[in-house]
This record gives sequence, structure tokens and C-alpha cells, in this order.
Amino acid sequence: MGAVSRYFSAIGRTITTLGDGLAVTFSYLFRKPITIQYPDRLPRPLSQTLPERSRGILEVDLDICTGCSMCAKQCPIDCIDITVEKQEETKQRFITRFDIDIGKCMFCGLCAEACPSGAIRHSHEFEGSVTDARRLVLHFADRARPTAKPPKKGAEVKTAPRGAIVRPLLGQPDEPYRPPVKVALPAPPAKPASEQPAPAAGEGAAKESSDKKDDGGSK
Ligand code: SF4
Ligand code: SF4
Repeated sequence: MGAVSRYFSAIGRTITTLGDGLAVTFSYLFRKPITIQYPDRLPRPLSQTLPERSRGILEVDLDICTGCSMCAKQCPIDCIDITVEKQEETKQRFITRFDIDIGKCMFCGLCAEACPSGAIRHSHEFEGSVTDARRLVLHFADRARPTAKPPKKGAEVKTAPRGAIVRPLLGQPDEPYRPPVKVALPAPPAKPASEQPAPAAGEGAAKESSDKKDDGGSK
């Protein structure tokens, strides 16, 4: 093939491929657009359309948490911080801190797999952007929570709807950082009168005599 024919052959291929490309582009002019106007023009929140097993931001239901810390032990990068304190008077254990750092979390799911009660789980929430990185540490224990008993094998555990716990904690992106409140153990329940310690010998008599003196002085 001579140089002239190769030249015109190249021009022909260029025109053909250009036509192919433009044909694809023009075909989109006559199709219905499938672009989603995110996030404000969806018929329902995108998080509600995700597959059941998708891994969003973690949440923990402290009503069913046993305080066993298995999730924290399983986490390979120490995202979870739990404090369980015992009330000496009642021997009841309370969760006074349950923090998850979603800035570090890699959404591996190891913590959720290790949990015996299903208390910690992935929600379908994924919009957790903030303007202050300190807000990426989510504090779930807003008050001291008594630890739950481990569920019986095969028993159905009642828990909050997925995402209902973590959604309020995520807030709006530009909210200011607020340090977590220190969670204290609740006061022990008051003992019934029958269990109150008897007054020390002589104490009642001394009080009576002082009462009498007071009465005498006032007369
Ligand atoms: S999902 Fe993985 S990285 Fe995130 S807290 Fe759980 S174990 Fe840690
Ligand atoms: S969330 Fe689960 S694994 Fe973690 S402390 Fe509570 S019960 Fe144990």
C-alpha cells in the first residue's frame, strides 16, 4: 500500500471512530436521565435503600449490652473504649462509658461478630462528616446503664430499630464540639426502715434528755 492510500485510510478510520463516539453521546440526549439529586430530592433517605448486610456507622444498644468488652478486645485498632463500674452496695455493674471512634473504624465488623447479644452492630448510616474531628468519637453512655444478662442461646433479643441510636449522635456537620459529660454511678437504693442500723445504746436516752431540756428552757 502506498503512502497516499495509507494517508486516506487513516482519515477514513478517524471519521468512522469519531462517528461511533458521537453516536453513543447523542443517544443519551433521548434517554430519561438516571441522575439522583442527592441528598435533598430523594423520595426516602438513601440509608433506607441499602442492602440489609451493608456496613454503616457502628451503634450500640446499651439496653442489651452485657458489658463483656468482647467487642473492644476484638477490635484490631482500638476504636472502642468501655468502662464498667461496680456499685459496691448492690454489686450491680454499670456501663459508664461506651465510646466508638468512627474516625478510626475500618468497618471490618469483627466487633459485631464477637458480640454475644447483638448490642453492637453496623447501622445503615454513612453520613458522618463533621468539621471538628473530636466529634468523630461517639459517646453512647449518656448515663450509667446497668449491664444486661447474656441472652439465652437462640432467644430473640429485642432491640431498637437499626440506626435509631446512632443517628441523633451524628448531628449536623457544623455543630460545635461538646465534651462528654462525666457519667456517675447512680445512688444506691435506700434501705427499708427495718434494715436501718439501731441507734447506739444511750443515744436515744441522751436525745430524749436533751429534748426535755429544750422543752424546759422554752417554758
Ligand atoms: S468495625 Fe472493626 S475497626 Fe470498627 S470498631 Fe469494629 S472491630 Fe474495630
Ligand atoms: S457491645 Fe456486645 S461485645 Fe461489646 S460489651 Fe456489649 S455485649 Fe459485650
